[in-house]
Amino acid sequence: MAYLVGAGPGRADLITLRGAELLRIADCIIVDKLANPAMLELARKDAEIIHVPKRIGPGSFTQDQINRILVEKALAGKIVVRLKGGDPCIFGRCAEEAALLNEAGVDFEIVPGITAAIAASEYAGIMLTDRRYSSQVAFITGREAEGKEDSNIDWNVLAHFPGTLVFYMGISTLPTIAEQLMANGMVGDTPAALVANATLPGQRVVQSPLSGIVDACSREKIEPPALIIVGEAARGDPGLNWFMRKPLFGRTVLVTRDAEGNFEVSQKILARGGDAVEFTTIAIKPLTDRDEFLQVLAELTGYDWAIFTSPNGVAVFFDALSALGKDARVFGPVRIAALGDRTAASLERYGIRADFVPTVFTGYELGIQLAALANLHEKKVLLLRSELASKELVEVLQQAGAQVRDVPIYTAVPQQGDVAGLEGQIREGRLHWLTFASPSAVRSFFEQVRPGVVNVSSTKVASIGPVTSRELERLGVRINIEATEHTTDGMLDAIENAERKWKLLE
Ligand code: SAH
Repeated sequence: MAYLVGAGPGRADLITLRGAELLRIADCIIVDKLANPAMLELARKDAEIIHVPKRIGPGSFTQDQINRILVEKALAGKIVVRLKGGDPCIFGRCAEEAALLNEAGVDFEIVPGITAAIAASEYAGIMLTDRRYSSQVAFITGREAEGKEDSNIDWNVLAHFPGTLVFYMGISTLPTIAEQLMANGMVGDTPAALVANATLPGQRVVQSPLSGIVDACSREKIEPPALIIVGEAARGDPGLNWFMRKPLFGRTVLVTRDAEGNFEVSQKILARGGDAVEFTTIAIKPLTDRDEFLQVLAELTGYDWAIFTSPNGVAVFFDALSALGKDARVFGPVRIAALGDRTAASLERYGIRADFVPTVFTGYELGIQLAALANLHEKKVLLLRSELASKELVEVLQQAGAQVRDVPIYTAVPQQGDVAGLEGQIREGRLHWLTFASPSAVRSFFEQVRPGVVNVSSTKVASIGPVTSRELERLGVRINIEATEHTTDGMLDAIENAERKWKLLE
């Protein structure tokens, strides 16, 4: 079985639910250059992934080669997904691929995708069918403008088209397109717009009257993929350009946690319009196979309070519980405290509502506030947290009279990230922010990157809270901001606020 799937225009999450579902089950995925590689995260670990870029030069595939691979894999009994940028059939040679599959007796399904014209215009505040001036839209391939003999493009019709024209694949032929439209009677001050890298953090928009669009684009050094929009609609409305107005738009933010944590934060950065670069500094290693953990589990109901201090701790704890065939009922009457909203939210996933969440998310504050709220005198308190956590919380609880047992259920082991080129990117100011969410991430990162390189660069440093800041200070790293709310969202809020302030000062 073969599926011809539209990947959407750029952003990994603009694929359809059907498309995503098929990526999850595919045996073999044949991927176009324009499909966002991030969506391959959905694929099975053992899926065969074949990249088939069509470009000039080595490593390129011809349409014939692609067709052959597609049919071969499907005939071998595999579930094949042919993943194509945008919609698979809009200038996608889907007809050819589908016809071949049909001839070969392979069943196929076509999964539509959001085509570039629709996404690019909507992400740029350009309304293709604004009823005030456009009741029709034409999608045109710019490739045929290359003076192809059997061109189907009727420039005379297009020049008088009473609506919006959208040219795909037209960057290299932009001069011809503009010239032909004007030579056939379109007025030079007709609005035109170019949208490049639509929906991605690197999206760019150039607007100009048709007569000046070629110059404007070479001035701005616009590169493909880009669409050309011509007609009254291309004037757009700056007030409707919601995407490029997002607070982190145009900013590149490095995240430095464990792989899973990085993925999660990246999604948030993307949602705020920024670009995320993931750098793995640590890996979370469960310590739940130790005797100490099993022993504590056996006498868990003897405690008055159990405290979780991170979502990682919650995940590690409940994974171990589930491996032992147990569930949340092990806690019985034990009261539970969570450090941070996200830790509390993680607990809720396992059916537990935290009895207490402090208003400030540090271990110290949790201890102080819990002691103020509950009488901890001679109470038994269990800490289920990282081996590397600071002792502050233990001390505060002990001062309040509690008997504290601090059980390490995981640790963070340093990981080698992909440093090649990273110092260069920092020096050249291509990374706008480095973010740090734990002392162990700080240590691992600055074992690989020299603090001096960061300090003299324009790259800004954000810290999630005081404990992380102390580690940065110890290593002599300049800190630009520290989050007031000590969560990743709090840190991103702080970055947004700083950006807004600097923008006002500019
Ligand atoms: N099937 C695809 C189009 C393939 S042709 C679709 O439906 O979108 C490739 C052309 O699509 C590019 O030359 C460019 O004109 C356009 N395109 C694809 N992705 C784009 C993007 N993110 N931003 C702007 N244009 C894009």
